[in-house]
Amino acid sequence: MTEAMSAEYDLPKAYEPGKVERKWYKFWLEKGYFTPRIDPEKKPFVIIMPPPNVTGELHIGHALTATLEDIMIRWHRMKGDPTLWLPGIDHASIAAQVVMEQLLAKEGLDRHQIGRDKFLERMWDWANKCRQTISEQHQRLGTSCDWTRERFTLDEGPSRAVRTAFVRLYQKGLIYRGERIINWCPRCGTALSDLEVDHKDIQGHLYYIRYPLEGDRGFVTVATTRPETMLGDTAVAVNPDDRRYKAKAGKKVTLPLVNRIIPIITDEAVDPSFGTGAVKITPGHDPVDFEIAQRQGLPLLNILNPDATMNENTGAYCGLDRFACREAVLSDLEKDGLLEKIEPYGYSVGHCQRCQTVIEPIASQQWFINMPPLAKPAIDAVTSGRITTIPERFNEVYHNWIENIRDWCISRQLWWGHRIPVWYCRDCGELTVTVDDAKSCSHCRSTNIEQDPDVLDTWFSSALWPHSTLGWPDDTEDLRYFYPTAVMETGYDILFFWVARMVMMGLEDTGDIPFHTIYLHGLIRDEKGEKMSKVKGNVLNPIDTLEKYGTDALRFALSTGTAPGNDIKLNAARLESGRNFANKIWNAARFIIRSIEPHGTETQIQRDRLPVEDRWILSRLNYTISSVTSLMEACQFGEAQRQIYDFIWGEFCDWYIEIAKIRLRTGEKETPSPIPVLVHVLETSLRLLHPYMPFVTEELWQNLKSRLPSDWTEAESIMVATYPAAEKSAIDPQAEKVMESLIDIIHAIRNARAQYRVASNRWIEAQIYAGELTPVLTPHTEAIETLARAKPVTFQDKEEDGSPSKDTLVLVLKELEVAIPMASMVDLEAERKRWQKEIEQSQAEVSRLEARLADKQFLTKAPAAVVDKERNKLVERKDKLVRLKQQLGRLD
Ligand SMILES: [Zn+2]
Ligand SMILES: [Zn+2]
Repeated sequence: MTEAMSAEYDLPKAYEPGKVERKWYKFWLEKGYFTPRIDPEKKPFVIIMPPPNVTGELHIGHALTATLEDIMIRWHRMKGDPTLWLPGIDHASIAAQVVMEQLLAKEGLDRHQIGRDKFLERMWDWANKCRQTISEQHQRLGTSCDWTRERFTLDEGPSRAVRTAFVRLYQKGLIYRGERIINWCPRCGTALSDLEVDHKDIQGHLYYIRYPLEGDRGFVTVATTRPETMLGDTAVAVNPDDRRYKAKAGKKVTLPLVNRIIPIITDEAVDPSFGTGAVKITPGHDPVDFEIAQRQGLPLLNILNPDATMNENTGAYCGLDRFACREAVLSDLEKDGLLEKIEPYGYSVGHCQRCQTVIEPIASQQWFINMPPLAKPAIDAVTSGRITTIPERFNEVYHNWIENIRDWCISRQLWWGHRIPVWYCRDCGELTVTVDDAKSCSHCRSTNIEQDPDVLDTWFSSALWPHSTLGWPDDTEDLRYFYPTAVMETGYDILFFWVARMVMMGLEDTGDIPFHTIYLHGLIRDEKGEKMSKVKGNVLNPIDTLEKYGTDALRFALSTGTAPGNDIKLNAARLESGRNFANKIWNAARFIIRSIEPHGTETQIQRDRLPVEDRWILSRLNYTISSVTSLMEACQFGEAQRQIYDFIWGEFCDWYIEIAKIRLRTGEKETPSPIPVLVHVLETSLRLLHPYMPFVTEELWQNLKSRLPSDWTEAESIMVATYPAAEKSAIDPQAEKVMESLIDIIHAIRNARAQYRVASNRWIEAQIYAGELTPVLTPHTEAIETLARAKPVTFQDKEEDGSPSKDTLVLVLKELEVAIPMASMVDLEAERKRWQKEIEQSQAEVSRLEARLADKQFLTKAPAAVVDKERNKLVERKDKLVRLKQQLGRLD
């Protein structure tokens, strides 16, 4: 018997999240609620969780992902859909390897010293520890994902999917190996895709360098931001239409410092407005120059070692670091009188996204995917509406990128990752490309073969994630039932890295889209709207936060005001508001639960004889359910949460429960007990709120269940109870109208008390002129008295009694009037004296101003502006005097 089932199960005075969260998570896990039952009759709801990187711990962005997805998942599960939320972790090839290299560096080691096998052994040890931490942290957040299906990108299944996809693309000719200009990170020692390069604007210089004409006087001047690359020049190019260079085109120049003779060629790609109109061509280190060289048959010269020192092709500069070489080249050019001028110049420089080292464009043999053929179906899937993006504005961003897509460099000179399934034959030189490890060359049967040392870009395996996690390439039951998945929920910052690539690879491998809906959430910012970063020190750690405020409070804060695509601000006030809400529900539930025993456990609502407040709260509850359901369907989780909050805190706790307390106290025989309605509304509200705040709702629901007859519900947990459905018949406009008036009256009297600063222990009188509403409001006299601290409250007929006397404050409301005798709010004699004193002071000032404005000397000597000012003052003071006299009159 669990604690929940025990009859001794009592509710402490305050909610203590730390005491209940682990208990309930364990309970859910043991009951197997997170694992869906495959039911061919029903359409499943499926989310594949974006796999966090194996590097370290979850950050607050992961907590947002987990919260939003868990809201959707719990909601669908309660609606009865077979619901799968598949968790996973990404090996994060480059990011993880950077972390391990830093750990090794602390021991004075580098990966080459310990070798590939030993390095991978250490990576696995470390990664396994991190994976455990990440899973545990997800559990602390209350995520109801199916841990029996958890996947790691390097697991056997996903790894085989990676190899299969690679081999199939290779066989179709869509994967090829070739020499292209790629982004090289000298620190990481690997190629990077265009998406992995951060471009930063810097203020640098443009250097004008003279290249002497061969066998002639004069020279051609070229401009460059990277003067050291001149060592790799194989030509100078000008635009064929550039008249300035008509005579020089076709001649040759001597490349300074290395004295290599290179031609002056013409090419349409040269922009005559840049620099001098003549540009240096460095095919080994510039993508545009590379293309020109390919067209013109120019040689290609690499001048850099992998660590960005200068190589043997640079003569005297060999061995120098690239930036030291820049200084040396400039100084030598200057000595030779070949440095014409230096201009300040702003341009953009690529940096490695992982280590922030300046990228070098280098011509290199790498593996690429030919993307345009894969992009076409992915464009159609979105254009045709088969895939919906929320918010819709990201469709344009998606199209802009994918329609201009370039080939994707997928090989990385790293060790941690999926090794490329290609074997090179040392005998015949042919390639063997297979899913299973090759034992011999598929062309000549030689066993003298060697596997490509490189691994694949991490995003290659991520692109397969929705189908590889479900068993592809095998025809599994999971793949047949759960694919295509329902929603891909992730940050808008990885739309290209991940989402677009999943669409392309999903369609390519399975012939079907990977998901129907793309939900893009925003970034989390601090209260000043700044991005959270370790450098700024404004990072909120999700685990510290949930330990301080409770997991439900953190989830509440993360879902407050959230709207697709919009960044959210997270601060202490929001977290406190989440905690306060949990406490408010706790206190309300505790009151109701403790009221059940003395008032009987009858839970049947007697619909035919309900008082108006009961009909009203049931009407509001059903209105809220209906509205929240529409909002959830539209993925407006922030607004749905606000409406649940407003209903529970405002209508239920502040109004209904307060009115019900009076009924419980007086226990009138003719009206039914409010207990059945209190229990019903509480229980339904808990289910409505459960997807947002799973722990406090389960704790209270179980406690409530333990107090009620055993046939009250079949569900053994709120998370598998049915999500509330609105009952149209409960909507009661008549009851809403009466209760609105009642609430208006109480609000008005409370405001009057505040305005006249009536002491809280003082009872004031009130007369209500309610006309036609009088008969329906009269039964609530006691509620008005208690909640507004007004006694006696009398209902009066305006026609007979005439208008209220003038020593009365009259509050005009929508359909009625409330009259409060001033004497009941304030001490009339003291008030009168106070007003009289003010009137006297005001009168004196008016007299002084009048006298001054009658003084001819003042009028003639004072500047016109001053006289005007005094006149205005007199008008204002006279006006004030009239109002003060009116106020005094009200007290008579
Ligand atoms: Zn790097
Ligand atoms: Zn061979």
